[in-house]
Amino acid sequence: MPGRLRYKSALITGAGSGIGLESSILFAQEGANVLLVDVNIENAEKAAKLVSERFPNVKAIAWKADVSKENEVEAAVKKAVEEFGRLDVVFNNAGIMHPADDHALNTEERIWDLTMNINLKGVWWGCKYAIQAMRENPTDTREGFASTPQLAYTASKGAVLAMTRELAMVHAREGIRLNSLCPGPLKTPLLMDFLNTDEKKQRRLVHLPMGRFGEAVELAQAALFLASDESSYITGTDFKVDGGLSSAYVTAL
Ligand code: NAD
Repeated sequence: MPGRLRYKSALITGAGSGIGLESSILFAQEGANVLLVDVNIENAEKAAKLVSERFPNVKAIAWKADVSKENEVEAAVKKAVEEFGRLDVVFNNAGIMHPADDHALNTEERIWDLTMNINLKGVWWGCKYAIQAMRENPTDTREGFASTPQLAYTASKGAVLAMTRELAMVHAREGIRLNSLCPGPLKTPLLMDFLNTDEKKQRRLVHLPMGRFGEAVELAQAALFLASDESSYITGTDFKVDGGLSSAYVTAL
């Protein structure tokens, strides 16, 4: 089904790696212009080059921004509108899982603040500026969604779910849709750097009904669905792509 995002423009944060990278490729493949935003500009540039080479009919532009900084997110949204003339889809995907994030007694305040600033405030800034930009679109084909799913990490993602639901209700009659995309454990640097031994991986795998980690592209497919008109009656949902993990109450034999 090529062309599912034809004439649309998307901004994807954390586009230099993992889910964001795979989503940038898929969105471009389906016809969207994409602003690939990442704090790691080298990776964003590599990703934009790869996307441009594969899909020369769309624009793929790298842009440096730290999503925890309001002025940088504002500038990224402005850049997308300048380049593409409009903004239809924002995927607030950037997030961290800090190695020093621990239980309540061990987690330092600076780790809590850093995690909240990126994982939660970063989504807020993305929604704030994207909603303003989407209101300027000439037609009513506007979509937006936020990424979701360690103490600070869990709290930040839980807050993103609640914030996204409320924003979805507030903006529903404007034709702006907001959904949380909730991944199970995936084979991306974020998790694999953390599960860096076979033992740690096995400790997780035993709980996964399908017996394997997900692939970033499997999330990107869901992101594409939420970004496309095929999900036109879906807003305010916690969209789970977790291989059944959250439904499992026994471990597989
Ligand atoms: P990843 O580490 O592969 O990629 C994350 C990207 O975000 C990197 O390119 C990084 O440079 C960028 N980034 C980090 N901080 C940033 C900031 N302040 N501003 C801008 N960019 C920043 O991670 P991933 O696995 O693709 O995860 C993407 C999202 O999915 C994250 O929000 C993560 O919490 C969530 N998630 C991942 C998993 C998993 O198993 N991988 C599971 C559940 C949720």
